[in-house]
Amino acid sequence: MRRVLAGELCSGCGLCAGVSGGAIRMRDDAPGYNRPEVVGPVDAAAERLIAAACPGAAVAAWQDAPQVHPYWGPLREVMTGAAVDPAVRFQGSSGGVVSALAIHALTSGLVDRVLHVGADLAAPTRNRTLVSRSPAEVLAGAGSRYTASSPLADLAAILAEGGRAAFIGKPCDVSALRQAAKADPRVATHVPLMISFFCGGVPSHDGVERILRAMKVSGQPLSAFRYRGQGWPGLCVAETTDGARAELTYRESWGAHLSKEVQFRCKICPDAVGGVADIACADAWYGDESGYPSFEEQEGRSLIVARTEAGSRLLAAALGAQALQAEPLDPREIDKMQPSQARRKRLVLARTAALPLVGQPRPRMAGLKVGAAARKASAPEALRNLLGTLRRTLQGRRSRL
Ligand SMILES: Cc1cc2nc3c(=O)[nH]c(=O)nc-3n(C[C@H](O)[C@H](O)[C@H](O)COP(=O)(O)OP(=O)(O)OC[C@H]3O[C@@H](n4cnc5c(N)ncnc54)[C@H](O)[C@@H]3O)c2cc1C
Ligand code: SF4
Ligand code: SF4
Repeated sequence: MRRVLAGELCSGCGLCAGVSGGAIRMRDDAPGYNRPEVVGPVDAAAERLIAAACPGAAVAAWQDAPQVHPYWGPLREVMTGAAVDPAVRFQGSSGGVVSALAIHALTSGLVDRVLHVGADLAAPTRNRTLVSRSPAEVLAGAGSRYTASSPLADLAAILAEGGRAAFIGKPCDVSALRQAAKADPRVATHVPLMISFFCGGVPSHDGVERILRAMKVSGQPLSAFRYRGQGWPGLCVAETTDGARAELTYRESWGAHLSKEVQFRCKICPDAVGGVADIACADAWYGDESGYPSFEEQEGRSLIVARTEAGSRLLAAALGAQALQAEPLDPREIDKMQPSQARRKRLVLARTAALPLVGQPRPRMAGLKVGAAARKASAPEALRNLLGTLRRTLQGRRSRL
């Protein structure tokens, strides 16, 4: 964990805290990322589990599938679609598919609760982990929360409760959970369904503060804050306790502020597409190189990728029950929808190759087709990124002296 923290490889997933029996806790670390802090003796079993499952140290390998794409991971079914219930579609970040799948898993008895992330009611720009036991609770947590979340910090409680939970989290959260499942059979029994999304990275709380300043509500008490949703892409909206409301477009909130404050681990993420989840969703828009849609607002539409047998079964059941409407998509279309994800994946090797040159660790990333993705990068692009990472790492080290 010390090596991971020193190398800025922590994604903030919370797994280390969740398996430490209280010896590690998550805290808010400047400029506003969730980071672990050791507050007591960590036993040997927890140490071993953290070493194997921490996504800063080792990322879970993709499983076999009919097609395994170097950028897009294991592909069983690739579709675009939306929740049939208009309220779920409207509330969701894209087409509300993640929420619709979770609600279907709940109402069909596949799981008895859904673990996911939503606004902290006491501090609405921040996140908290939600345990939703009804469709209304799942729906209340719909929408993307573009700041630090540590849904695995409660892993011990999740496993102790028993039953069957669906887990919705960032790709690194799901990687940690899959690795933990290899060491602890209770994980597969009690968390039979893992859903994720394509992830552009986690911005810090300072990034959110930039948005509040741009909205001219910085320092004012907030009653609600939403990063997206209620439309597609949906506005970023702050509501103050005295009834004022401020808005920013997705292009402004993500492009001008949040994307500038993404943690380093995300820039070298070897699996930001939820490759080890049962199903992963994303925005099914045709955008530009920076990942913005080519329209202002529309009804939401999600990209849906089933990656495992469990994922295919859930997708088929949700379609059969008319919880979802979706149509097949040629996987080659994902390249046009997610150019920034493609770019990052083909540059992971060049960026991480820089790290050992300056004595920094990098995560183990076998089985993620990092080499095959790198062969799609041009030599100048790879060299520019290797040198950029070297420069950034050396500058960061100097500024910490
Ligand atoms: C940090 C972040 C970065 C993203 N980057 C991209 C990207 O680069 N490209 C892209 O296409 N899509 C990205 N997404 C995903 C996208 O915004 C949508 O979530 C996705 O398209 C699914 O939409 P939906 O309407 O089907 O999901 P919804 O029905 O809105 O459900 C979303 C679910 O995700 C959970 N959730 C929200 N925020 C978090 C969080 N921080 N940690 C864990 N769980 C969370 C919610 O609790 C909810 O259950 C990102 C999402 C996040 C949170
Ligand atoms: S990535 Fe997760 S497990 Fe690893 S140190 Fe950070 S919070 Fe802990
Ligand atoms: S980009 Fe990767 S490391 Fe960063 S939050 Fe997303 S999945 Fe985790």
